[in-house]
Amino acid sequence: MAQLTDDCFAFSGPLLPIADMERLIVERVTPVAEVEQIPLSEALGRVVAADIAAVDDLPPFDNSAVDGFAVRHADLSVNGDTRLVIAERVMAGHAAAHPLVPHEAIRIFTGAPMPAGADTVFMQEDCRVDGDAVIVPPGLERGANSRFAGEDLRKGAIMLPGGRKLGTADVALAAAQGLTRLPVRRRLRVAVFSTGDEVVEPGAVRPAAAIYDANRHLLRGLLTKFGAAVTDLGILRDEPSALQIAISAAAADHDLVITSGGVSTGEADHVRTAIERVGRLVFWRVAIKPGRPVAMGVVPAGRPGHAAAFAGLPGNPAAVYVTFVRVVWPLLLRLAGAAPLQPIALPVRATFSYRKRKGRREYVRVSLRHAADGAVEAVKFPRDGAGVITSLTETDGLVELGEDTTEIAAGTMVGFLSYAALTG
Ligand code: AMP
Ligand code: MG
Repeated sequence: MAQLTDDCFAFSGPLLPIADMERLIVERVTPVAEVEQIPLSEALGRVVAADIAAVDDLPPFDNSAVDGFAVRHADLSVNGDTRLVIAERVMAGHAAAHPLVPHEAIRIFTGAPMPAGADTVFMQEDCRVDGDAVIVPPGLERGANSRFAGEDLRKGAIMLPGGRKLGTADVALAAAQGLTRLPVRRRLRVAVFSTGDEVVEPGAVRPAAAIYDANRHLLRGLLTKFGAAVTDLGILRDEPSALQIAISAAAADHDLVITSGGVSTGEADHVRTAIERVGRLVFWRVAIKPGRPVAMGVVPAGRPGHAAAFAGLPGNPAAVYVTFVRVVWPLLLRLAGAAPLQPIALPVRATFSYRKRKGRREYVRVSLRHAADGAVEAVKFPRDGAGVITSLTETDGLVELGEDTTEIAAGTMVGFLSYAALTG
């Protein structure tokens, strides 16, 4: 599992800018190489291993886009109605028995093949049937209401590029091409730990000074959403050797090991040292808030030339979320062989003023609402604390404030990223 080259980018500067972190991930992390053919029913969220070309034109034949009457445009009078004899009826799934001859029309339904000779279709709503004839109005353009072979996709065109993380429509497109299996990279294997003497599993007796483990459940959900195979390795005590042993063991059969908590500089924070002991620390401070202490490293997998990636996230759940979507998600995409995701922040109007330090990117948890003037407004969650879990459940997404921003006033337009967009 040699995903991270080991010779690289140990970062000793004060705070690593997000853009540099993203570049390092792409430059230094090698995607998993194994490819498998999987049925469409299992393809959602998987990463296409190599460009897939269209095997046929889509649609495969010219057909009608509406229920109506197929005609020859040359038969239509320019200024007035045209009367055409109805020659036959073609339903979807059937072909016309005869070509369309001059001054005739063919009753046709959506998806039925265009009869030979026909080039234009009138919507039935625009026509009047009179006995065995149909009367059509003037003014319809040649080709109207017909769909041409290959207009959606030409045979041979790249329809799913290598690196595409398959969405629902991608799978539908493959099905529309008659494909039954797709070549994808193998699923990532990711191990997750929580750390902290105070952290206990939901369902266990909670000592007075303990809290239930929220982070592992958050991370499991996010990783499942990504499409990784998750191994839940429970909660580790704040005990250096236990951390080292557990992380080392997990590295042997996973592509990525993730911990939360214990990554800062406190006396009980042993994660950073553990990585330095059992592997290599790549960086541990990123210019992001919430979540400044976030470590990335490489841990040897026991076999020469193989290593697992490591991500040590902060302990506070909101910081876990933000660092996951901004640090771990790009890392997962790269490991999985997927193209980087560049969600576009949509402009919304801030109802709040905000001051921040220059040089780091900040993410403000907000809800959206419609203002009286119709604009979309972002309302900041009232409590900033990175430990406030309801700041995630009660909001719609994050306002992203760039490194150069130091202050925004209420009424300023800001960039909004929905939770859905962040884990697209
Ligand atoms: P730490 O970075 O380990 O000092 O953790 C920062 C804060 O996050 C502390 O208040 C921890 O109790 C809390 N925290 C750590 N791990 C978890 C967890 N798995 N679930 C919920 N809160 C946690
Ligand atoms: Mg801790």
